[in-house]
Amino acid sequence: MDIPPQLDTFFIALSFVLGAMVGSFCNVCICRWPAGESVIRPRSRCPQCSSGIAWYDNIPVVSWLLLGAKCRGCGAPISWQYPVVEGITALLFLAVYAWFGFTIATPVYMALCAGLVIVTFVDLREWIIPNEVSIPGIFAGIAVSLLGMAFPEGSALRVVSVFDALAGAALGGLILYLLDRITILILKKPGMGFGDVKLLAMLGAFLGWTGVLGTLMLACILGSAVGLSLIVLEKLGGGTRDKGLGTGEEEQDAHATEKALPGHYIPFGPYLALAGLIFLFFGPEAILAYWAALELPAEELVPILQGL
Ligand SMILES: [Zn+2]
Repeated sequence: MDIPPQLDTFFIALSFVLGAMVGSFCNVCICRWPAGESVIRPRSRCPQCSSGIAWYDNIPVVSWLLLGAKCRGCGAPISWQYPVVEGITALLFLAVYAWFGFTIATPVYMALCAGLVIVTFVDLREWIIPNEVSIPGIFAGIAVSLLGMAFPEGSALRVVSVFDALAGAALGGLILYLLDRITILILKKPGMGFGDVKLLAMLGAFLGWTGVLGTLMLACILGSAVGLSLIVLEKLGGGTRDKGLGTGEEEQDAHATEKALPGHYIPFGPYLALAGLIFLFFGPEAILAYWAALELPAEELVPILQGL
């Protein structure tokens, strides 16, 4: 839908501010969901001195900078995770509006981005993927495809057929489930983890079956690139890989080593989440560009992609 330029500017600013606020809530989910705590109560407080955080000390990014990353009450350091999550969510919301404009797709994909930010940071911290995101996400993706069917014109949704959403969810879950089984059978060690199975099923529900294949391929490329660079960096510097997201660095390291020892789980969630985002923004266009690079006739592919 075309809207006047002033209104467009207003929505761009609104998306950014909304993203920062949602990012602030994402931080609460990231910290509390793995511990099984409510995200509504109690109000945010300093983990060190338990003093409540006033609204003016809780402004996304800004407060963290003004406070110099320290608690006003006791001076305990505040993790950089907070402004980073808020900043990333704000930029993603801005990007979604810029990309999808004044359409049904925009609020839907903003919510998807927030879910993926939560998944990424929980997986980095705790090595799990929160069911609070993935399971409702699968159903949300399928529901959104029904919306796409109801408004086939101008919804800007990636998936406009419930069959594609169902196929995507089923394929996404099945591929990783089978990979997990195969790893267990052949390599005799636990595979990906069931959290990733549900995460790719969720992405499939939002991105369709081509989205699952594209996302998985991209995630593997990203994962290998990062894995290889980490190995090279380790060989070069002999430094530690664990940056430690929390405040207690030693505690975090001990925690990570303890989890890493059984050699059992590589956090794949962040790669799946990032790949899913790349596909959300560039998916069909990227496939078309690849198709064109192979010098294959695009006329046959366009209707197929549009039909999905
Ligand atoms: Zn404090």
